[in-house]
Amino acid sequence: MPRPIRATIHLDAMQHNLERARACVPGAKAWAVVKANAYGHGLERATRAFASADGLALIEPDYAVHLRALGWTKPILLLEGVFDPADARLLASHGLNSAVHCDEQLRLLELAQLDRPVDVHLKLNTGMNRLGFSPARFAAAYARLRAIPAVRKITLMTHFANADVPAHPRLAIGEQIRRFRAAAEGLDGDWSLSNSAAVLQQAAVGASLRSDWIRPGIMLYGGSPGHESAASHGLLPAMSLESELIAVQQVEAGEYIGYGSRFQVERPMRVGVVACGYADGYPRHAGTDTPILVDGVRTRTVGRVSMDMLAVDLGPVPQAQVGSRVTLWGKGLPIDEVAHAAGTIGYELMCALAARVRVEEAPHG
Ligand SMILES: *Cc1c(COP(=O)(O)O)cnc(C)c1O
Repeated sequence: MPRPIRATIHLDAMQHNLERARACVPGAKAWAVVKANAYGHGLERATRAFASADGLALIEPDYAVHLRALGWTKPILLLEGVFDPADARLLASHGLNSAVHCDEQLRLLELAQLDRPVDVHLKLNTGMNRLGFSPARFAAAYARLRAIPAVRKITLMTHFANADVPAHPRLAIGEQIRRFRAAAEGLDGDWSLSNSAAVLQQAAVGASLRSDWIRPGIMLYGGSPGHESAASHGLLPAMSLESELIAVQQVEAGEYIGYGSRFQVERPMRVGVVACGYADGYPRHAGTDTPILVDGVRTRTVGRVSMDMLAVDLGPVPQAQVGSRVTLWGKGLPIDEVAHAAGTIGYELMCALAARVRVEEAPHG
């Protein structure tokens, strides 16, 4: 028998969320971002759920090759570009579109002697100071790219630091757009700027933001990029993590629960033990009071999360017993709430789903 923990992936939710993203930015073409194994949802599943996307975007060159092996024939974009000369040759051999964010990558493309045309995304640093050419050097980088015979289409790209916080006091999205417009002035090419947060802010910033392409990631999986709930944006959770109670303890007042004896029971409490721990990808930093569902009823975790188990307060669910169904996150319990209780974000929880967790697909509809 396998352990009762399993993740269920809802392909129809992923499909729905992609349509939501498109509806936010009518007319834009969409890269569905599938880095990190489609945020833990599985690359092959993503090719089916996002069949209507205009392209798939990711970080890992080996996974890009795998996408071609899976039969994905539409565009593929390497969001961080190439890492070595062999990757540069992959662009031509596998028809990959690549970000170019630094001189070293320009050099790799110049030396690669690509025998087939490739499309590229030239990246501008508009204030995030992570990847990209400075505004002062952008036009020169563009000219160098144009001079490479194999380079066909050049798309202009940047990435927003704070699109989830309108009018961010340190670096507002409006300021990044202003810097982008100034540097892109007179350069031919599509624009590709918006991550999920910017897609969801499109109504607010729309007038100043020309979106030929959008690059939604987290929203496609039903996670929120910011403080507003995913549900408030009409997004559906694509991953449910569920398990079962494998033991029930009647704990007397004054007793403690789990490692470190961090939680003391004040009055007699029924405590359920769930087959899920940090080795499954559940965050160890989630303390007492992290929300959790038992038999569909909302309750809370108590004590420390251990490697293979965690404990829950069965006070609100007196009928619960061994075998009762537990929802760690997903339908009925937004992953973002669990992430918040653990001091992290839904992105990290999705990506950290452990290999030992069985993954199933929900039946369609
Ligand atoms: C990951 C990533 C995205 C998607 O970001 P989300 O916040 O998940 O929507 C878009 N663009 C680039 C360059 C990325 O690396």
